[in-house]
This record gives sequence, C-alpha cells and structure tokens, in this order.
Amino acid sequence: MRPVGGAGVSGTGIMDYLPIFVSLQRRPAVVVGGGGVALRKVSTLREAGAQVTVIAPVLDLALAAQAARGEVRHIAAPFIPAHLGDAAVVIAATDDAAVNRAVSRAAQERGIPVNVVDDAALSTFIFPAIIDRSPVLVAVSSGGHAPVLARRVRAQIEALLPARLGALARFMGERRRALQRALAAPARREFWERIVSGPAASRVLAGDEPGGERAYARELLTSTLSGAATSDGSRLGEVYLIGAGPGDPDLLTLRALQLLQQADVILYDRLVSPQVLERARRDAERIFVGKAPGEAGQQEQIHELLLRYALGGKRVARLKGGDPFVFGRGGEELEALAAHDIPCTIVPGITAALGAAAGAALPLTHRRLAHSVTFVNGHQGDGDAASDWAFFADPHHTIVFYMGLGHLAQIVTRLRAAGASADHPAAVIARATLPDQQIVRGTLADILTRVRDLRVTPPALLIVGNVAAFAAELTGEISAALPANEEAAVAAGALA
Ligand code: SAH
Repeated sequence: MRPVGGAGVSGTGIMDYLPIFVSLQRRPAVVVGGGGVALRKVSTLREAGAQVTVIAPVLDLALAAQAARGEVRHIAAPFIPAHLGDAAVVIAATDDAAVNRAVSRAAQERGIPVNVVDDAALSTFIFPAIIDRSPVLVAVSSGGHAPVLARRVRAQIEALLPARLGALARFMGERRRALQRALAAPARREFWERIVSGPAASRVLAGDEPGGERAYARELLTSTLSGAATSDGSRLGEVYLIGAGPGDPDLLTLRALQLLQQADVILYDRLVSPQVLERARRDAERIFVGKAPGEAGQQEQIHELLLRYALGGKRVARLKGGDPFVFGRGGEELEALAAHDIPCTIVPGITAALGAAAGAALPLTHRRLAHSVTFVNGHQGDGDAASDWAFFADPHHTIVFYMGLGHLAQIVTRLRAAGASADHPAAVIARATLPDQQIVRGTLADILTRVRDLRVTPPALLIVGNVAAFAAELTGEISAALPANEEAAVAAGALA
C-alpha cells in the first residue's frame, strides 16, 4: 500500500518512496498483459537487462515479433499466481482491473515487488520518469501525485544535461584505477573536480575524446608535478567560442546554455542581447567587448583578454551574436588561442540570416523562387568583382547582406547597374527574433525610402531576390490595408 501524503520537505525524513536503482541484469521479470502498455514496460525491463516473460492469451504484433525472435518468453494463457515463479519484479499492464488486482495480491504474498500501471495503490513500487545518459541515470518522481509535473521536471533536466554525459562518466571510470595509484586520497577528489569542470570534460562532451585525453594528461601532469592539486593557479583554463544566435534566448543551443552555466567569465559583443546574457551563470564576471564599428586595435585587445583569463585558469565564454564563424572573426580568435595551446570548444549559433528568415516567415530557398543563397558582407561591397554582382542581380539567387544598412543606397545602385530590375523584391529585417523585430518589404525601387520613412536602425539585414516577396504575398491584404509604419509589426505578428 502506498503511504499517504508525506510532507515531502527535504530534511524532514519523510519520503513516500525510497529511490533506489535495482540491478535486473539476467534476472527474471514478469509482465502480465500483451498490449501497447505492456510493450513499453517490456522495453524498459529489457533495456535494464532483465529476462522477460510475458503472460497474456494474445500478444499485439510488436510483442509477438519479440517472442518469435526469442527475445522474450511468452506464456499464452490467462494469469495464474504460479506464473510468477522466481521473478525479481512483476508488472501488471492489462486493462482488466480484476486481473491487475490478482497480480498485485499474488506478488505481495510472495514478497515480489509489483507495479500495476497507473495504480499506485496496488503497487509496491512505481516507475520514475527517466533521463538516460547511461551509465548516468536521473530518475524523477512525483510519488504518483502529478505525473505530468514529473515529466515536465524531466524535460527541464534533460535540457541541462549534455548528450554525451554517459561518455564522460565512462571516460572517468576507465581512469579511476590508474589515478588511485597516481594521487593520494585528498588530492584525488580535487583532481576529479577539475576534470569535470575543465577542458578534459568539455572536449569529451563535444565528442573529441583524443582532445579530452590530452587535456586529462596535462591536468594529471600539473597535479603530480606541483603536488598541489588544490592550488587554483595551476588549473587549466579554456575558452568556449559560443554563437549566441540572433537575440531570442530560446534560440540558444543546449550546449551554449550548458557552457554559459559553467563559465567563470563572459566576454560578450554588442550584438548579444540582454535576454541571452540573463541565461548565463549568475555570478560569472561579464565583460563587454563590443566594438564601435571600425574601432582600431579592438580585436587585438579581445585576444589579449581571452588569453589573460584562459592562462589564468578561467573558463571563458566568448559570446558572439549569431554564429561565431559567420562574419564573426571567430577564426582569428581561434588562431590566437591555438598559438597558446588553449583548448577551445566551438558552439555554433543561429546566424542572423536564419533568424531573420524565420522571424519574417521568408524561406531563403524555395523550389519555385530561389535555388541558392549567399551571405555577403554589405560593408565591403565596393571591393567585389562585377561578375559577383551579375550573379547577385538574378532574383533566383537569394542574397543576404549583413552590415548593409548604412550602405543600402550603394547596394541598390550596384544591383541595378548589374542588371537587377526595379521590381526586384527586397526586404530589410531589423532586430530579427527580438520583441521589437521590424520587417520592411519592398523592391529595389522603393526599399530605400521605406527604410528611411520607418527609421529602421541596426542591426538589420537586407535580403534580395524572389523570396523577399514570399511572406508579403501571404500577408498582401493585411499590409496593403495599413499605413506603412504599422506594416512591420502586423506582418510579424500575423506570421509569428
Ligand atoms: N556573427 C553574426 C553576424 C555579425 S555581423 C551572425 O552570424 O549573425 C553583424 C551584422 O549581423 C549586423 O550588421 C546585421 O546585419 C546582422 N545582424 C546581427 N543580428 C541581427 C538581428 N538580430 N537582426 C538583423 N540583423 C542582425
């Protein structure tokens, strides 16, 4: 019987259930029932290595196939208590309340742990919601009070735990023995703390085990040589080069979020939104390194800061708008770090073009409208060859100009000179994915005046090509019926 309503406040010593992890490797388990619910329970038990017997007069297709392959044993008969045999656990998963009750009673008389699906009162154990990063397992339960809440908690934890957490656990497990011989007990724990929160773990979690091995070897060398695993000065620093996306914090990748949660220092750009910064570790030191465009020497200063903090043993998040490798100078920062042998984890972000495309419901390619897309630095347009512009002028190519707002007039003139027509569709999207996102649609003939009239301010992208008219087609009626300065907000809202 399930005990009623424990206070559930930690420290009171009252828990409705004892969470334990039971080994079922090669042990017999019985599932009564042959339908879809039984199938799910059979799968869980088999994942845990149990030898499963299914008891049901008939099995559904998937279970029958497993029985035919010899993966489970099938007893094609109505349940009788003798079926339980020496089972380690029993699950009742039939839709017949009388059968479920009989299974529960028989199991309890024999002292076998029993779970009746969706009936805590007939169960002596319940299944938690599981986050499986084997060998790391997280189990969440609301003690049967609110399964939906438990699943919600699971989803939240799921997002926080790196996908390769299991690989990291195995990596550490494989080295435990050797470390016991290399370091004395008090230093060992410190050492492992440094491994899980330093570059060895970041490398393994990013899928780079050889890199993890190298960082591990360096940590070990430092610890054994200095004999001072506890002094923070000897710890290895590292850098996370993170794409912060176009602005909406929900568009961060899970890995970006995980690394932002553990960084000691955050160096961020002007384009990184405050909403994104809020998702970082509360007590991390935040340093603004946003440059006014064209400011000399700024990039070198950023390199210096990165090196200073990383060489000082800090975990440094270098947070850049969009993606670090799209007009982000991430490559240069990577070179500076590599020159000093500082481990770096690169996390891609959603580049502004992709954020704007989604924000404006404007597909960058489309079978009918465009079959290629080019990202261009709108700033350096003057240096490009005329042949590039002939290519840009074909409306079947989508061209996205970054940093082009200040050069809009020149860009339009060059496109027209290269042969683009006056009605060549163009759209400007400012502050894409942020609450004050602004979308201005038009053609090469009128985009400049529209942008001026609406007083569009950076950051903004210019998109030209057939696709720039795509969402306008869908919202044509709405936007035509409104004064120009309301157009942007309505179009965004209508398609959000
Ligand atoms: N690495 C960034 C680009 C940096 S260049 C990325 O991948 O997105 C800076 C230019 O990006 C800006 O001038 C602007 O053209 C564009 N940009 C960045 N964020 C934007 C946003 N939220 N909306 C529209 N354009 C944006």
